[in-house]
Amino acid sequence: MKKPLMRIPYTELFPPPATIPHTARSLPGAIAALQEFLHTPPPRDLPPSTVVLTGAGLSVASGLADYRGANGTYRVNKTYRPIYYHEFLSNHEARKRYWARSFLGWTTLRNAAPNAGHYAVRDLGRLGFVSGVVTQNVDSFHPRAHPGTPTLELHGYLRSTVCTSCRNEFPREQFQGELARLNPVWAAFLQEAIATGALETEDPHEKRARGIRMNPDGDVELPEAPYTTFRYPACPKCLSSPPPLADGTRGAVEVDHDGAWSPTSNAGILKPAVVMFGESIANSVKKAAEDAIDGAGRLLVLGTSMATYSAWRLAKRAKDRGMPIAIVNIGGVRGEDVFFAGLDPSQTGGQGVRVEMSTDSLLPALVQAGASPDLGSLENEASVFKNMLQ
Ligand SMILES: [Zn+2]
Repeated sequence: MKKPLMRIPYTELFPPPATIPHTARSLPGAIAALQEFLHTPPPRDLPPSTVVLTGAGLSVASGLADYRGANGTYRVNKTYRPIYYHEFLSNHEARKRYWARSFLGWTTLRNAAPNAGHYAVRDLGRLGFVSGVVTQNVDSFHPRAHPGTPTLELHGYLRSTVCTSCRNEFPREQFQGELARLNPVWAAFLQEAIATGALETEDPHEKRARGIRMNPDGDVELPEAPYTTFRYPACPKCLSSPPPLADGTRGAVEVDHDGAWSPTSNAGILKPAVVMFGESIANSVKKAAEDAIDGAGRLLVLGTSMATYSAWRLAKRAKDRGMPIAIVNIGGVRGEDVFFAGLDPSQTGGQGVRVEMSTDSLLPALVQAGASPDLGSLENEASVFKNMLQ
């Protein structure tokens, strides 16, 4: 069977969501519904734990752009077209362009940090409500915010590069230093952009006024920049020990006098350790995500419209297993009616919750309220956690 490839997510508007239960329109109502969701034993013999599925909406409060705006539309940049995997693999010029933009965007991503939403997930883990997280985000904020609650990064992570020949991974931060060394003019531009605060501001208008556009995966657009001059390093492992190719011959990895990858090479190409569009998710990751769903009794979806099929099918799997589903997301979610089909109209959260609120305000309030209506003693503990965040 052909493996499904990562596709560009839907760009049309999803229908506006219904609020479930209808009392969940207010903040206290939403908290009460989620408390009941987390507290009610799941049906059948499902385990009493909750798995969390997250997306870009959770990282918006960290200053990283969401693919979709408040109304579920693309708001970042209408002309944005991400690079495809095959293009990256086959085209030296496309790689120059990708790494030039990524070089400029890295500082913003590196300086960004988990927000109150991520820390609330940590607290829900500590309080015993959340057993694990599956995230579509590549910013690694989940593992940073809650190393004690396991995170599966479904679409990979930007913190590393990976060699497309030998599959070894290297720290992205170290790669950044190499890019600066190989591209001194670009490095000077980056220093200047940092000095003027052009990359620091979270205001997209201000960024645009300074000639910089950010895209959701942390890369920057400079319409006038000469990408053709950009250089990037070869995989150090493949450079010292050329890898075998699929046809049984030995790969050629050649570099210029500074160590920049040469187009006379046919191996040793580094890529970000994320799943690119047109690339398939590794079977091991796909299986681990399914196991995370199968090991829990409830699914809590945070900050995602589930526009990518890899995320949607996990929620569908949860629904097919009879798991109650709660969705907290601003804007509609792909095919969300399916997830709330068959709910008792008089249920108050135990069977399902749909709330249209931002995760960084709702989740900390949920933690502060004690996460469960019957566990009053946890309220104090939750406050302690909250104080730790300040
Ligand atoms: Zn390599």
